[in-house]
Amino acid sequence: MVQTPPAEHTVGMDERERALGAARSAALEFLAGLDDRPVWPRATLDDMLAEFGGPLADTGVDAETLVTDLAARATPGLVGIPGGRFFGFVIGGTLPAALAADWLVSAWDQNSGSSTMTTATVALERIAGAWICDLLGLPATASVGFVTGAQMSNWVCLSIAQHAVLRRAGWDLTRAGLRGAPPVRVIVGAHRHGSIDRALRFCGIGADEITVVPADAEGRMLPAGLVAALAGASGIPTIVCLQAGEVHTGAFDPVAELVPLAKEHGVWVHIDGAFGLWAAASPALHHLTDGIGGADSWTTDAHKTLNVPYDCGMAIVRDPADSIAMFRTGGDYLVFTSLDPWDVTPELSRRARGVPVWAALRSLGREGAAALVDRLHANARRLEAGLGRVPGITVVHEVVYTQVMFRLDDDDATRALGAAILADGTAALTGAEWDGHPTLRCSMSSWATTEDDIDRTVAAIARLAEEQVSRGS
Ligand SMILES: *Cc1c(COP(=O)(O)O)cnc(C)c1O
Repeated sequence: MVQTPPAEHTVGMDERERALGAARSAALEFLAGLDDRPVWPRATLDDMLAEFGGPLADTGVDAETLVTDLAARATPGLVGIPGGRFFGFVIGGTLPAALAADWLVSAWDQNSGSSTMTTATVALERIAGAWICDLLGLPATASVGFVTGAQMSNWVCLSIAQHAVLRRAGWDLTRAGLRGAPPVRVIVGAHRHGSIDRALRFCGIGADEITVVPADAEGRMLPAGLVAALAGASGIPTIVCLQAGEVHTGAFDPVAELVPLAKEHGVWVHIDGAFGLWAAASPALHHLTDGIGGADSWTTDAHKTLNVPYDCGMAIVRDPADSIAMFRTGGDYLVFTSLDPWDVTPELSRRARGVPVWAALRSLGREGAAALVDRLHANARRLEAGLGRVPGITVVHEVVYTQVMFRLDDDDATRALGAAILADGTAALTGAEWDGHPTLRCSMSSWATTEDDIDRTVAAIARLAEEQVSRGS
């Protein structure tokens, strides 16, 4: 039976409505202004600290006024990440359906750790996880834990791996702990992402304990190096970390060759495919990911290639029993009926961050997901071609996926060009180091980037590069 809410609830609803209305207006204004504003923020951190700083006031403020004021004052310090010309790091934009679904997640306020209470959001996450496994060619029965990003996913997967390889060696980490455990061998590539080392550190595995396999000029693990590293690994608890998508070049480890080599020794294979795993969703680029299905665990992000709002990554593990063994909690007040989010992630209370993933995938469909990945790749090729026509600029690697890295002949000029691009504001990209030289790197990760965005970016870079080159000569 529907009851008329008491008066104070009506007042509360008014305040909510006005606050949400203000947020909607401010959000739309921000998004509509992205094309015209400088991509890199004009306000420094100190500017923003001064803007918002001072002691906490004694009295409160009306929510609508606060939201309008907050948005207006934050604007100079906001980065144009959801726009079409942000190419820094590896950062996706936000699909409309994912953004709107994310608003609902906040409004619904569902604490989505358990399947017994928050049935809608847990179901949506479970379905989103199954769709992702299907799209990427991973086992349908794998566990999918939605976490904040690939860093957390690498840690979740590697902690599950550590537990599993020790258990197979007769050591129960949950009871006996890590002290006194047989050492776990970890084999990684020379071009692994830094989050692998951090994840291992969280597992109690230090840098000196890692075996590093050399890579080729594009950053791909060398199979002969893996063979050498694996010598004598049989029977020893061992984890091999492979990579799909090197953060600078976008190169993929030759997984189809590497996984069978590792599996000969019965070791655990983890693949960090934060943005690269999504190549599997495209029939045209799928070949880059051949063989990924043979691994034991996979890391990927939704907030990069899939373009959901921050933050969202997935920890995918072939055998859910391995995830449960690490993360399922005992305790009186926890009721387990099936695979709950808190069985496969380190969190108890948690945001239903998989719901925007469901929305993104449903809004795209299988074909739309493939088209998105293809477009990011096409944008990378268009940028590569455009930069190739700019005198003095060299693209320093094969553009196989979404990453384009380039430099000028002179190191100082390259650094100065990077700073000039950010100051110019047409586009934003970030610096890297490759082969001992500074480089500039563009990641094509946003659905919002058009061919015109690429052309405007190339024109701006050409103009600024010419200034650098003529300054140097
Ligand atoms: C971005 C990235 C990470 C870290 O991901 P976050 O989502 O920032 O935590 C890990 N590995 C690779 C290959 C990446 O590109």
